[in-house]
Amino acid sequence: MRVNLKLTKIGTVKLHLHRTMEATIKTLTIKREGEHFYAVFTCEIGKPDLLPTSYEDVGIDLGVTHFAALSNGEFIDHPRYFRKAEKKLAKAQQALSRKKRGSHRRRKAVQQVVTCHRKIANQRKDFQHKASRKLVNQYQVIVFEDLQVKNLTKASVPKQDEETGKYLPNGASAKAGLNKSILDAGWSMFTQMVSVKAAWAGRTVTFVNPSKTSQMCPNCGAVRKKTLDERWHSCECGCELDRDTASAKVILDLGRKTLFGRDAANVGNGVEAPGL
Ligand SMILES: [Zn+2]
Repeated sequence: MRVNLKLTKIGTVKLHLHRTMEATIKTLTIKREGEHFYAVFTCEIGKPDLLPTSYEDVGIDLGVTHFAALSNGEFIDHPRYFRKAEKKLAKAQQALSRKKRGSHRRRKAVQQVVTCHRKIANQRKDFQHKASRKLVNQYQVIVFEDLQVKNLTKASVPKQDEETGKYLPNGASAKAGLNKSILDAGWSMFTQMVSVKAAWAGRTVTFVNPSKTSQMCPNCGAVRKKTLDERWHSCECGCELDRDTASAKVILDLGRKTLFGRDAANVGNGVEAPGL
């Protein structure tokens, strides 16, 4: 919807209104991204929108092969358009690198890169809003790994061959081809979105220590070491699972233990922990 926005000292500007104002407007900020200007309104809205209690909990492993693996065996996959947008971005960056500094063409190429980045960011935001909404609607307790700790402990350091000094493959290169910076930014934004929506809905989100979550057997607790390329969890106790599903199960168990205490792992389903 096109409307006119009157700004003191600036005058009237035309505005494309993306949604209707649901409450009293409190502040307005004008934001610029590349050649686009945004008017950002903040409104004061009423009470939290509590959802009826759900009796399902979920552990979530955020990853590269799948965007998310859930403890119940479901997966949320990376949207296909990410790859398409990524290719376009790579092309735009290449084009930019060929332009002379200070030239008019370079300025245009910069604009192209900015546009690609904005498109990827918008697509990601849209995808994550929908995915986080779905999770919060369905589950009472949602458990993630603590990503800050994970990034510190699981960073893939390139290994060098002692004799030749050549870099050896360490599994990082095998990571399914998606740009790592895109993934990194995406994960923490996603856990934040889930946390905010959960708070409004009266759901619980908790974070657990990620050390060993991908190595432990969710059935018997034994440590089953896997390399990055091993996609399957297979344990002597008979537990056979997709690697990421197995870690999501371990994540859920750890989360329940922190929330409900050691013995409550199987009975605390959906019960709200005191003091949360
Ligand atoms: Zn086992």
